[in-house]
Amino acid sequence: MSANDYKHLFGPVQSSRLGRSLGIDLVPLKTCTYNCLYCQLGASAKTTQERREYVSAAEIISEVKSWLAKGGEADYLTLSGSGEPTLNCRLGKIIEGIKGLGSGIPLAVITNGSLLCRPEVRDELMGADVVLPSLDAVDEESFRAINRPLEALEYDRILAGLRDFSLVFRGEIWLEVFLLAGVNDSDQHIEKLAALLETISADKIQLNTVSRPAGEQVERVSHRRLEEIRQRLGDKAEVIVGGEKERPYGAVNSS
Ligand code: SF4
Repeated sequence: MSANDYKHLFGPVQSSRLGRSLGIDLVPLKTCTYNCLYCQLGASAKTTQERREYVSAAEIISEVKSWLAKGGEADYLTLSGSGEPTLNCRLGKIIEGIKGLGSGIPLAVITNGSLLCRPEVRDELMGADVVLPSLDAVDEESFRAINRPLEALEYDRILAGLRDFSLVFRGEIWLEVFLLAGVNDSDQHIEKLAALLETISADKIQLNTVSRPAGEQVERVSHRRLEEIRQRLGDKAEVIVGGEKERPYGAVNSS
């Protein structure tokens, strides 16, 4: 059962983290709060922190309902894809509506975590089964260098939001750390990261690196170095390279 006939669904794609994952797009291509060095969605023309109903909640729920009615099967229904899903201001209604379809398929949300500093975003995410936020930086300087956020976004506030969310969320949190050689894989960076991770209640720490051509000159971290970092970060850490981020890379609506 393919999602090719739908405007806001793609896949199911085979995901290293989520198995067979039906992607659900909540925003137009690369509508995001960041413009990461490693982003594979192309140049960021729509960097914003304005929450709007970029894509109609009713349309999304109707498409998922139709896909399920036609016998669609997946391991996860995943809000992700073309940008930052929490920018859709109807996020809570979309999660509620999809869960209300009663498919029994768990719902995952892949987010860069930048809006978790907003209480309403944390509340809206409470109905998800798994939330997969990112944490690549360890301070304001590395945040600006790696994620290249909107000027108004502050690292400390985002980190505090992630911590607050991790304390109250009843589902699982799988935190992704995207590592770039020579940028955030030094011993010094990893020691700071290890200290930060002690303060966040995540169920998994998932280490990723470049596996396909990205928009900028970025280099992958070797398997040997990833393994060293995994060991340093403890039992919750795992390497997921192989290993793409669960995004369609611009090939929206293709499986
Ligand atoms: S990698 Fe994700 S968070 Fe970063 S700019 Fe691209 S879509 Fe946004």
